[in-house]
Formats: sequence, C-alpha cells, structure tokens
Amino acid sequence: MSHEGYCWLCGQWRTLTKEHIPPKSAFNDSPILWHSVDENSRMIGHLVWSKEDRESGLTVRSLCGMCNSKCGSKYGSHFVDFIRKVAEQVENARDEERLIISGVRWPLSIVKAVMQSFISANGPDFVKANPWVIKFVRNSRNQQWPHDVGLYLFATNSKGGRKSGVMASYDFIRRRHAVSSEFVFWPLGAALFLKGMLSESRLTPIHHWVAECPYDYQGALDVCLWMNPAVKATPLDFRTEEQINKDASQQDEPLEATPETMEQMQKDAMRYGGEMDNKRMMFVTKTVPRIKH
Ligand SMILES: [Zn+2]
Repeated sequence: MSHEGYCWLCGQWRTLTKEHIPPKSAFNDSPILWHSVDENSRMIGHLVWSKEDRESGLTVRSLCGMCNSKCGSKYGSHFVDFIRKVAEQVENARDEERLIISGVRWPLSIVKAVMQSFISANGPDFVKANPWVIKFVRNSRNQQWPHDVGLYLFATNSKGGRKSGVMASYDFIRRRHAVSSEFVFWPLGAALFLKGMLSESRLTPIHHWVAECPYDYQGALDVCLWMNPAVKATPLDFRTEEQINKDASQQDEPLEATPETMEQMQKDAMRYGGEMDNKRMMFVTKTVPRIKH
C-alpha cells in the first residue's frame, strides 16, 4: 500500500510517516479502542460513533520524513520528560485538584511538541489555514506566536482520550463563541484557542513561554495544572461523572443559537480548520467548563 500524500506540515507530496500522537514513549504504545464520529452523522442529523482498534497506540500518517526528523526527535524527548513528570503525580491526585509540576525544563520545546500533536490531530488542512504554524514548528528557534492565539494545558486521570479537530463552540451563558481544538491523552490535555476564548478557568496558559523562554533556556519552571476529568466525548467538558448525571436528570429548555451566530461559527471553523474538510464538527452546547446549571 502506498503511503504517499501531501505532508500536513510542509505541503509537499512525499511518503508520509506514521506519527504517534503523543509520542510513543509517552504511554502511547499499547492497543487502544478509538471512537470517532461517523461521517454519516451530518446526514442522519445526530452523532453516530464508530469504533476502531489501533494495535500500537494512536498514530496518524501525517508528516513526511523531512518534517518528522526536523521536529519529532528534537522536541519529543523534552515533551516525554514533561509528560512523565505529570504522570507520576496524576495517579494519586483527585479530580479538580491542582498539581504543581516542578523542574519543568525546555519550555519552548514543549510548546512546539504540543503544536506538532495538534498538526496531526487537526487534519491535513490545519497548517494551510494557519500558516504561522509551519515556521514555528519547523524552526526550533522561532519565537513568533500570534497575539490572539492561546495554548493551554491540564492534567487528567481519565483514561479515554479526546481529539476534537478544529471546531466552533458557543457559550450560551456569556453569549459568545470561540474556535478551538482539544487533544486529550492520559495524563495530559491540551486546548488551542484560535479565535476567542470560552473560559480560562481550570486551564493553564503556556503560550507566554514562547516569548519568555528561548529554545535553549536553561532555567526550570514550576507549572501548576488542574486535574480535569474528561469523561464525555464532548470537547472541553470537564464535568465529573456525578455532575454529568445530575445535569442529565434536570429537564432544561433546549437552547438555540441564532441562525446568524450559527453561520458565523461555521465560517470561523472553516477559516481556522481548513476549507477542504467539510465534515467539520460544530458543537453548540451549554456544557462549557466551570458553568453549573
Ligand atoms: Zn513535510
């Protein structure tokens, strides 16, 4: 079987390599059962899930050999060191607690590794729609980051992963929408906000590391991470099982965004996620972090 295709980072037609997201040595080396939204969901009008066995962890054929070697090995080991530090603490921590991860080294490399995961998680058009990502990820010394883009981390003890792709979501309480992408794989979750922001609570920003820490920064940081449950498949839903059951038992009036808002959300999701992917998911939900009903 041919593995040629357009590289999701440089856009060249090349043989594509299998990327582990997160890296294989960050606990991504055992079989998983991956649930994804079936493409027919849009036609049917509600979410249908399909299941797939992945023998050797979560992998995506996304990058050419050149892009892979330019970033993979470089950032991978720094990122894995960080993830292992998080893992040591997560198993004994409780949901909604805060962890202090001390002695975090190579902060800029960690940001680049997280962005590399988002390239593979967000599909072939993500870099085309957000061209700044190429230079940022391919050049380890590059410290250019758009002022309106936010990157956040959290810890999690939920064993099920989540990968949303670029999507628009609407907060009914604050009446605003945002374009974001979330990627969760035990013990770490990452949220990228490309336009707007729903709520910063229980998310730790790391985008400021880009300006503050050059690639060979020799210091070590203490990073505070929230323990956020990721029980449901809905992106950025940090409710515990108990909260979910409680919410489900309450009969709420169905909420609807205006057609204008829906249209704007669709446009934004396409703009930041790429025009080609017309299977893009749009979440119009009132389950946003930290909002209780
Ligand atoms: Zn490439």
